[in-house]
Amino acid sequence: MAQHHIPENLPDTIRHFIDGRFVDSVSGATFDVLDPVSNETYARAAAGQKEDIDLAVAAARRAFREGPWPRMKPRERARVLNRIADAVEEQDARLAELETFDTGLPITQALGQAQRAAENFRFFADLIVAQADDAYTVPGSQLNYVNRKPIGVAGLITPWNTPFMLESWKLAPALATGNTVVLKPAEFTPLSASLWAEIFRAAGVPDGVFNLVNGLGEEAGDALVKHPDVPLISFTGESRTGQIIFANAAPFLKGLSMELGGKSPAVVFADADLDAAIDSTLFGVFSLNGERCTAGSRILVERPVYDEFLERYAERAKHIVVGDPHDPKTEVGALVHPEHFEKVMSYVELGKQEGRLLAGGGRPEGLEHGNYVAPTVFADVAPDARIFQEEIFGPVVAITPFDSDEEALELANGVRYGLAAYIWTTDLERAHTFAQNVEAGMVWLNSHNVRDLRTPFGGVKASGLGHEGGYRSIDFYTDQQAVHITLGPVHTARFGASAHQ
Ligand code: NAD
Repeated sequence: MAQHHIPENLPDTIRHFIDGRFVDSVSGATFDVLDPVSNETYARAAAGQKEDIDLAVAAARRAFREGPWPRMKPRERARVLNRIADAVEEQDARLAELETFDTGLPITQALGQAQRAAENFRFFADLIVAQADDAYTVPGSQLNYVNRKPIGVAGLITPWNTPFMLESWKLAPALATGNTVVLKPAEFTPLSASLWAEIFRAAGVPDGVFNLVNGLGEEAGDALVKHPDVPLISFTGESRTGQIIFANAAPFLKGLSMELGGKSPAVVFADADLDAAIDSTLFGVFSLNGERCTAGSRILVERPVYDEFLERYAERAKHIVVGDPHDPKTEVGALVHPEHFEKVMSYVELGKQEGRLLAGGGRPEGLEHGNYVAPTVFADVAPDARIFQEEIFGPVVAITPFDSDEEALELANGVRYGLAAYIWTTDLERAHTFAQNVEAGMVWLNSHNVRDLRTPFGGVKASGLGHEGGYRSIDFYTDQQAVHITLGPVHTARFGASAHQ
């Protein structure tokens, strides 16, 4: 393999950003951050604990109660958000380089994610200006209107897959609506989050509005969830972690948004455009290294085209280019961390007992170091197999045949998750009927994973709680206070009114 690319000017220490300043942990504790290609430590990150969270929340609360941010006109905040989007666009190449280095994602895909982060800011800048709540009047009698108010300090907890983009997905609406925030990024990939601090400062976000605390989930994340002055938690991560956060937030009755795991089906009917279905189902599970919440990691194929599908799919999977994530020709890079690599590899070994291996099955040839897994295809996977039921979150796909629409639906719905579903058929009625009945928060019909930012994003069952996206994000990050006033004489019935007449 060619010389591994290491970005210039990497920090030795990745610090917190609290009240407008980069700071170390109060305790001085740090943790190691690894380069997924060499698995060597490239930096240490400040390991935030309760006292660091306390400082960050106090700064965010002060900025919320006393600072200008929540009081600015939406148009003024939108101007700042647009400057943030400009800065992200201007730095997209550097952002992608750092993100690729930290996560192992292919550079071309990391670049797309950086651009999407800019789009998120531009989108919510527009939306907050366009946002208009209704007033309801009964002429001469009643006026009712909605006072939409930011809630306070929002706690944002994010995972390591496409970290910068997923952070933008929470930061943009939280800030657009006038909240202040404490972000706790994933410990595997803390590098790019510090860039927000610089971008926000340059764009005119006041001190204390954006705070960043690095650290482990069980320490910094836990303290954020349990902080009484944080009324809102937006979390993206594993379903198991979501359950813990749900329980820890319950005594405070916090507002919760949960984007969790998935094991999404891609259903290919015999009447589908097979070329398009193969292209899309390959990309759907192997792009972003398979470390994608909406990955179509179970492919259900109707029996008449099953053998042809398997043959063509496996052949294509064998030709996916795996290698150095910084090489623009790379299609699958290195998995994020050796711990995650071990987990994915254990599923690959399990799959050899549970299914028929058609492609991959271990390390790709010539890539003896780093967290590389060859795109792995298992066929004839039974619905009770663990590789059918459990989220692997790597470049591994389980393929299963079906004989009827009913069976396809039963297979599609037969897991605890319900994030996305992909349906390939040329029969319009079948497509829409399937969409109605499939247990998934998002359905793509003859379409790959593209989404207009106005549409809701979220899962059902173990895949999440609530929806974000478009106005749903604005709803999540605001209180909607109803105000009612009587115009003219008060006609309300009074106790004892008849005694005075
Ligand atoms: P994870 O649940 O291990 O960690 C996510 C975040 O939660 C990290 O910042 C972590 O430090 C923090 N955390 C862990 N324990 C915590 C605790 N007890 N209290 C508070 N915070 C805690 O998830 P991950 O491995 O980083 O990410 C992969 C998972 O995320 C996959 O399951 C994937 O499907 C899911 N995901 C979902 C979506 C979606 O939109 N539905 C998007 C991306 C990723």
